[in-house]
Amino acid sequence: MGGLGSGGWFRYGSKKSTANSQHDIDIRWMKKNDMLRPGTTCSLSWSRRGKETGSVSCRIEENQMALHYRHRLHGGEWEQVEQTIPFARTSCNYGGHRTWFLCPHCMKRVAILYGAGKYFLCRHCHDLVYASQQEDRSYRLIRKAQKIRRRLNAPGSIAEPILFKPKHMHQKTFDRLKNEAYRAGDEGWMIGIAALDRRLNHVGERLGAIPRSGQFLA
Ligand SMILES: [Zn+2]
Repeated sequence: MGGLGSGGWFRYGSKKSTANSQHDIDIRWMKKNDMLRPGTTCSLSWSRRGKETGSVSCRIEENQMALHYRHRLHGGEWEQVEQTIPFARTSCNYGGHRTWFLCPHCMKRVAILYGAGKYFLCRHCHDLVYASQQEDRSYRLIRKAQKIRRRLNAPGSIAEPILFKPKHMHQKTFDRLKNEAYRAGDEGWMIGIAALDRRLNHVGERLGAIPRSGQFLA
C-alpha cells in the first residue's frame, strides 16, 4: 500500500492531490511535496479506478494541521468535521528535524494517519475501529442464524446441529432455512474470530467510543 500521493498528483494554486483508495495521509509525502510550511492550504483526495472516493481540506499551522471535511455514515446525513492533528518534531543525528503526526486519539507519534470512522487516526486506533465494525457484522449474522433457528425450533447455539423439521413445513423450505442458518452462523463466527484476533493484537490499549466508518468530502 502506497502512502497518500503514490501515483497521484499535487499542485499549488488549485491545490489538489490524488492518491490511492486507502484514506491515508503520509507526512513524509507531504514533506517531500513541501506541504508542511505554515500557511499552506491544500485539498487531499483519494481515488480508486479513477473515481474519487474521498477528499479533505487541509491547512498547515505552526504546530498542527487542521482538516476540514464532511463525513457521513452509510448514506446518512453529512456532518461537518474539523479535526486538528498536532505535530511532533524530533531532531535528526545529522542536523535538522523530522516532523511527525501525533495520533489525535492515543497521542502516539506516527508518520501515517488513516481515515477511520469520522476521524483520521494511527494504524492501531484504526484497527480497533475496524475490529468493532467487524464485531457488529458478526453479531448481525449470528442473530440472523438464531432467528431462523427459532423458526425451526432448533437449539439457539450456532454450534448445535439442526436435526428436526417442524411439522407442516415443506422439506424444501426446511432445507433452505437450515442452510441459511448454517451459512449465517458460520460466517458470523469466522468474522467474529477474525475481529477478536485483531483486537487481541492491541490488548492493553485503551480506546473510547469512536464513530464507525463512512465517507469524507472536503
Ligand atoms: Zn492512535
